[in-house]
Amino acid sequence: MKTYRALVNGEWKTSSSDQFIISYNPYNQEGWARIPQMTEGEISASVQFAYKVFKEWKKTSGLERASLLHRLADLIEENAEHLAIIESKDNGKIINETKNQVMFTARNYRYFAGYADKLVGNLIPLDNKDLLDYTSMEPLGVVALITAWNSPLSLLANKLAPALATGNTVVIKPSEYASVSTLEFGKLIQEAGFPPGVVNIITGDGQTGDTLIRHPLISKVSFTGGAQTARVISRAVSENLIPITLELGGKSPNIIFEDADLEEATVGAIAGIFGASGQTCIAGSRLLVQRTILDEIISGLRRITETIKLGNPLNSSTQMGPVANLAQFNKILQMIESANEEGAELICGGSALEHKDLNGYFIKPTIFYTENPNLTIACEEVFGPVLTVIPFDTEEEAIYLANNTVYGLSAGIWSRDIKRALRMAQNIEAGNVWINTYRTSAIGAPFGGTKQSGYGRERSWHTLYEYTQMKNVMINLSEEKRNPFSIQL
Ligand code: NAD
Repeated sequence: MKTYRALVNGEWKTSSSDQFIISYNPYNQEGWARIPQMTEGEISASVQFAYKVFKEWKKTSGLERASLLHRLADLIEENAEHLAIIESKDNGKIINETKNQVMFTARNYRYFAGYADKLVGNLIPLDNKDLLDYTSMEPLGVVALITAWNSPLSLLANKLAPALATGNTVVIKPSEYASVSTLEFGKLIQEAGFPPGVVNIITGDGQTGDTLIRHPLISKVSFTGGAQTARVISRAVSENLIPITLELGGKSPNIIFEDADLEEATVGAIAGIFGASGQTCIAGSRLLVQRTILDEIISGLRRITETIKLGNPLNSSTQMGPVANLAQFNKILQMIESANEEGAELICGGSALEHKDLNGYFIKPTIFYTENPNLTIACEEVFGPVLTVIPFDTEEEAIYLANNTVYGLSAGIWSRDIKRALRMAQNIEAGNVWINTYRTSAIGAPFGGTKQSGYGRERSWHTLYEYTQMKNVMINLSEEKRNPFSIQL
């Protein structure tokens, strides 16, 4: 079993706690890596190093930061296969997807490299022509980046690329369930030539994250994870009054109208829920289907689902891997059980996979049907390969059902009627709406949620504002003596 170290101020350190978290490969349940559980003092030291180096790092030119980010992107591309394999071993995601995701992260670093020397302010026109006023975009300081286990490198890039491009330093805390790819990535950070302390990677459990975000030298928290954790973090950071970006979960509606290309929509529904074994925040886990096409859609879904090939995530012909860890495996099975108890109709799947050659955390791709949109399985995020199909009759009902959730991350609309699709897009409460596609990503397109799916945006130039603060500078050009008892307007 390989023992990993944390990256603090440019050095690879183990923890004085002498405690480790074991990373298990969900494909075969083998413990394959040991991750140090950092102590409070070590976490604090990493923040202090990042704080110290921030004073120099923020003075670097945009061009210097851009070339480091491009160099990093080159290294990611060169090491894509290695990083993808590590990530697949850590969280069970199929290699085709982790490879694509790693290449996508390289694109992310390049995108923000392009902005590093374009952080422009404004010249503000004022009534008083004796005053000159301008704004500048300033980095925030030390940013805590906390990520979930389902796509560690991709989630990290959404935060790290804009944070570095805008001149911040960071302390990263990956999930205790899948820290290894982030630590391997740390080697590339060093190789790219980032000064020691600009990027620090500490490891440990939720308590480690908690200690990190409460540190008084942290200027911002960017978090991807569950809503429950987000509430705890929000309360904690309110003590220090620092900004926070929250990328949380969803129960996203994928809506098929009778006028859609039904074949494409069926494939889109399958991709939306069974991609990454359903462990994506944007999983289209509620499939709303117009009643007139219900039978056709359900039989199409069943036909494709029953042929999905489960297997070794490292095998390129595998279509669905295991779920990422034992806790998640148990949670999903328990939710399937309660869906049965609450009266949802099981269309296919509905249990763990029993197969003589597979002893990992495999769950059969599962589809339920219900007319009751208030069942737990229709309301709560499963974060696993479980789809709930719900019928609707009218467009108004589809909008009602789509918005009948505490979440607001994403939605899909399948229709050939562009006016209807745009009406739906206007009325759906979600940060991301897809029309005639699902789970399609682009770095230039802003991503984020509304309602309990979080706030703030990632990707796209809008994110630059998440990692900077605006400074206003006003200059008096007047030669006149000032009256100290009147305000100058
Ligand atoms: P989680 O909330 O349990 O953990 C996320 C991270 O927070 C981990 O690194 C964990 O160690 C850390 N953490 C836990 N308690 C903490 C605390 N008190 N203070 C600071 N850090 C703490 O989530 P998870 O199980 O790792 O991920 C699954 C969730 O993430 C799902 O709800 C999923 O939808 C969501 N997610 C959202 C997005 C998005 O972009 N919107 C992407 C991926 C996953």
